[in-house]
Amino acid sequence: MKHCLDDLALFGGPPCFSEPLHVGRPNLLKPHQLRTRIDEILDRRWFTNNGPYVEEFEQRIVQHLGVSHCVAVCSGTVALQILIRALELTGEVIVPSFTFVATAHALKWQGLTPVFCDIDPGTHNLDPDRIRSHITSRTSAILGVHLWGRPCDVDALGQLGEQYGLEVLFDAAHAFGCSYGGRMIGSNGRAEVFSFHATKFVNAIEGGAITTNDAELAGRLRLMRNFGFSGYDQVESVGTNGKMNEFSAAMGLTCLDSLDAILEINRRNDRLYRDCLSDVPSLSSIEYPKTERQNRQYVVLEVDPDAAGLSRDQLLKLLTAENVLARRYFYPGCHRMEPYRSLYPDAGRSLRVTEALADRVLLLPTGTSIGDDQIEIVGQILSFCIDHAVEIRRLL
Ligand SMILES: *Cc1c(COP(=O)(O)O)cnc(C)c1O
Repeated sequence: MKHCLDDLALFGGPPCFSEPLHVGRPNLLKPHQLRTRIDEILDRRWFTNNGPYVEEFEQRIVQHLGVSHCVAVCSGTVALQILIRALELTGEVIVPSFTFVATAHALKWQGLTPVFCDIDPGTHNLDPDRIRSHITSRTSAILGVHLWGRPCDVDALGQLGEQYGLEVLFDAAHAFGCSYGGRMIGSNGRAEVFSFHATKFVNAIEGGAITTNDAELAGRLRLMRNFGFSGYDQVESVGTNGKMNEFSAAMGLTCLDSLDAILEINRRNDRLYRDCLSDVPSLSSIEYPKTERQNRQYVVLEVDPDAAGLSRDQLLKLLTAENVLARRYFYPGCHRMEPYRSLYPDAGRSLRVTEALADRVLLLPTGTSIGDDQIEIVGQILSFCIDHAVEIRRLL
């Protein structure tokens, strides 16, 4: 507990935590289940090339999400790249800038032009009203991102897609186990893409998947992830190596086995943070749609710097010194990273909400490796800093 300014680690006190608290520490509740599966893989000597665990992982996802097809691959980024290529998109694709840079990179990698569209300040997702002004004769698709697991306005994006003849896809990297309109995310648009990176809700160490109800598309994606092979000696088209390996699938399955327990922990952490910060109105926790399922994988605060008396970056510095390694996702926004910054130096003019949020959002450590006491201490550090903002500003 911090009692005076000298107690703050930034000003010479001992850090609150001797071991750092991380954002995105991997979830693994039952390591023994993983060990059992790994032993089986070692005994089978079947390490990759569509092994039994990869097939089981795909089947479990199909069941969990209520979607027809799941194509598991080696990462979320490769999932995006393969999907974009399989759909033969051309020209420009409308995408948010407030997302992990892989969303934009996957387009650029495929020779497409990401066109950054501003977001809704309430949902942090693509603002459907703003999309229209970015549509040109070169636009081929809209790529929405269900940021923090909060669903995009899928219906509005679908209507725009229909009206203008555009493909509608979703980067659902954050949204495994979340719903839109009461239905699990995974079936929206032409296809949706998941990431099973170690930091995500379902962790396969590295991994990703494309889910779709389009059987023909799923077939093409399967060819593409395996060099275009349709049989032992038969190649149908240009492909790559996007295969998921058995060890990743084993981790993914182990995570799916404990999904309810992980979700319960995420919910509890989220509730505890909200309680701890309920009398700090300058730090607002994002709201989730009450009627939808959520995974609560991210604890996201918006810092109001005027009301708090400290900026998001000042709070980050104070927390980091205490070994609370909070993160400012997705600062500074794709459009202010290379190559996009040089390509579109004026993009910021139409991305006011993105730029404001990129300066205000702070993610706190959550997940299965943080305890209630630790969350309470993080809450206390934040309230203490804001209570003493005036003096802290003088010392910074
Ligand atoms: C994690 C993430 C990706 C990339 O997934 P990888 O599995 O790390 O390649 C893409 N988009 C978003 C929004 C992400 O958070």
